[in-house]
Amino acid sequence: MVKTWLKSVVEFLFPPACPLCGTPVSVHGELCADCWTSFNWIDGAKCIRCGYPFMVDMDNAMCSVCAAGKCELDWIRSSCVYDDASRMAMLPFKHSGRISYAYFMSRAMIWALRDIDVSDIDFVMPVPLARRRLFHRAYNQATLLARPIARALGLKLDYDSVRRKYRRDMGHLNSHQRAQNIHGVFSVLCPENIRGKNILLVDDVMTSGATFSELRRVLIKAGAKKVYGVTFCRVVHST
Ligand SMILES: [Zn+2]
Ligand SMILES: [Zn+2]
Repeated sequence: MVKTWLKSVVEFLFPPACPLCGTPVSVHGELCADCWTSFNWIDGAKCIRCGYPFMVDMDNAMCSVCAAGKCELDWIRSSCVYDDASRMAMLPFKHSGRISYAYFMSRAMIWALRDIDVSDIDFVMPVPLARRRLFHRAYNQATLLARPIARALGLKLDYDSVRRKYRRDMGHLNSHQRAQNIHGVFSVLCPENIRGKNILLVDDVMTSGATFSELRRVLIKAGAKKVYGVTFCRVVHST
């Protein structure tokens, strides 16, 4: 009763508005229709392993990378394509403290898992951030996304079993350089938490897949059984 009353007062003082453009909406944290449609959501045919969107409708098909056995993880899903719209949301979320975006981003990521059997996942792990970056940024954007996802799946969150060393930014590197730059950055602090587990990794974006690939290598070495991943957006190369 008090909670409902308090909620109406808060909504009166701070009416729900689209976090991206400020247009009034009915629920706090949700996007307006215009902003929602500006994203390139991955809602059609896709690779059953890595979630890469296909241009034509194909059932139970794998992309050429996964068919060659080169998928970075045991499966990956992303809610939308990395393009101007997702970049305009991701950059302030990551670098300018727009943490309120985590609400719609994590909801979209839960939606991206709709065709996945999640019953064998033991826990959710945000891709770790180096302490130096965490100190400057004050938050790990992957943890902000992982928390509501873990809650929705009824799973616990593990954000301290793996540590990441600081390396310079990978933004300008090609995929080969990214793989070299990321090699050896992760170390497992608590192997007993990892051994025999199926882990769902959470990150904001998948670009070359080098981060996931390296983290999986380290987790498997520590005894993890399966390593899955979900991101808000992913790079899709035009063919
Ligand atoms: Zn909007
Ligand atoms: Zn694939």
